[in-house]
Amino acid sequence: MINVSKIKKGIVLDHINEGQGYKLFSQLKLDEIEDVVVLLRNIPSRKMGKKDLIKIETDLLLDFTVLGLIDPDITVNIIENGEMVRKIKLQLPEKVTDIMKCKNPRCITNYEKVRHVEFTLSDPQKREYRCEYCDSPTSL
Ligand SMILES: [Zn+2]
Repeated sequence: MINVSKIKKGIVLDHINEGQGYKLFSQLKLDEIEDVVVLLRNIPSRKMGKKDLIKIETDLLLDFTVLGLIDPDITVNIIENGEMVRKIKLQLPEKVTDIMKCKNPRCITNYEKVRHVEFTLSDPQKREYRCEYCDSPTSL
């Protein structure tokens, strides 16, 4: 039996908003890795009511830019030898490429294959970014 309550080495993503765990799971493409991954949902939390949590037993590091974009309030704990050795504070990235798609259907990036489109943070509250080609607001 795999002990899911404690991992030796890996990453624990804590304080994920209730119901967002699965979304995060697919956005981080965790279904494609071969390591042990556990998604826990609806955990009672004093601060949040309920929360989701993801544990990954792995050597690999996640893309924290993507993580910050999805939810900057998630707590990232790095685990080594069964102990939490580091907490990473996420930030909403200023600029994003390759993660977002412009939501404006008439934007050139959507009908021609423009690669590496850059989006710049325009409204941190709404987590809104602007496309460098058409200036339309887009969020993940
Ligand atoms: Zn655009």
